[in-house]
Amino acid sequence: MSDCIFCGIAAGAMPAERVHEDERTVAFLDIFPACDGHLLVIPRAHADNVHAADPADVAACAQTAKLMAGRVSGALGSDGVTITQANGGAAGQTVFHYHVHVIPRFDGDGVLRPWTPGEASPEELARMGALLRGE
Ligand code: AMP
Ligand code: ZN
Repeated sequence: MSDCIFCGIAAGAMPAERVHEDERTVAFLDIFPACDGHLLVIPRAHADNVHAADPADVAACAQTAKLMAGRVSGALGSDGVTITQANGGAAGQTVFHYHVHVIPRFDGDGVLRPWTPGEASPEELARMGALLRGE
């Protein structure tokens, strides 16, 4: 995808503070970070989202995200790590090249969950479970 920013980064044609790369993935710092050390993991191959991505690239990004979670915990001494990923505008995706956020977390850092926990009855959980099992 010639006009994709993350394809440009993967190819080395766009600037990025790279922290890891391998055959399938590249990890680099987010330029509008939630906090210091917030980084992104992308597959080298373009895919708009998880639906379009090669499952092997999704798996490779998960492995790199785990590696980076260990890296930020060790290098920054974070108290926790959030790993998150958005697909589609409704989910908050703004760059349409599959990517995984790795966000170091510190006690009381104020980086909030993007949802307010609701409530679900046992009946609703059972109905949803059946729907998602394809029953
Ligand atoms: P999302 O909103 O989940 O699609 O995440 C896209 C992320 O990419 C945002 O956190 C942006 O700050 C980040 N971002 C956008 N452009 C760049 C760039 N050129 N280099 C690094 N991060 C970027
Ligand atoms: Zn791309």
